[in-house]
Amino acid sequence: MQVTFHGVRGSTPCHGPLTAKYGGNTACVSIQSEGQRPLLLDLGTGLRYFGQMYKTTNPDPIDAVALVTHMHWDHIQGLPFFSPIIRDGARLELYGPRQDDGRTFFEAVSNAIRQPTFPVELHDLRGKFEFHDVENDSFMVDDFHITSRSVPHNGPTVGYRIEIGNKSVAYISDHQQPLDGSFALPDGVRELAEDVDLLIHDSQFTATEFAAKSNWGHCTAEFATQIAIACRAKSIALFHHDPDRTDAELDATPLCNSTSGTRVFIAQEGATISL
Ligand SMILES: [Zn+2]
Ligand SMILES: [Zn+2]
Repeated sequence: MQVTFHGVRGSTPCHGPLTAKYGGNTACVSIQSEGQRPLLLDLGTGLRYFGQMYKTTNPDPIDAVALVTHMHWDHIQGLPFFSPIIRDGARLELYGPRQDDGRTFFEAVSNAIRQPTFPVELHDLRGKFEFHDVENDSFMVDDFHITSRSVPHNGPTVGYRIEIGNKSVAYISDHQQPLDGSFALPDGVRELAEDVDLLIHDSQFTATEFAAKSNWGHCTAEFATQIAIACRAKSIALFHHDPDRTDAELDATPLCNSTSGTRVFIAQEGATISL
């Protein structure tokens, strides 16, 4: 299983020399495994670069699957710029949460990609889309076993656990830490992350920032690491970096790698992890 980070930022893309090392695109990760369709985790601006890479190495129309955590811009904004879908025979199957007002995931995405905020609607693109609602579910995508669980954030949000063979990845991109700053672990999050080979987890705030923005839907790197250790994850990629976080600041993040047996590292755009 190859896990590649195409976008590791939260909130909004950023650009320039201060963020060049870890990258400025928003949430998008691909999982590729022999004989399976490519699996995409979120559709942030990093998706555009996955699309470019895909086209240079694959002559056939794309047939891929996307697991989307929620509808915030930083998780869907790459979709209209995903060039492999602008082709006859291309197909993208998407999973994501139903909205609190009853709208399906399909209705929410269709409503986000249309006039006046974007000139083209989904059904005008040449490829085909197939949408599924998820909440607390278990399902198969090709030979991948997928588990989705609700995760505390702002608005309907899920995380995913992806398993194939004896390898597993949990993807929890946006996670509201308890408002008092404590390390309580929701049951659903534990189910997603327990004993995984790799946990990809929100780490947007420093402790000082969390104190000022505690209800903004995110958590600290310390909280993410505690989740990984409590769930006996073999490794954790600190993900969803604040757009104001510079490379120097990320390099200076204390990584608590000492005694737990969980390897902690910082997600970097372009990096591939082999499991
Ligand atoms: Zn986000
Ligand atoms: Zn969000």
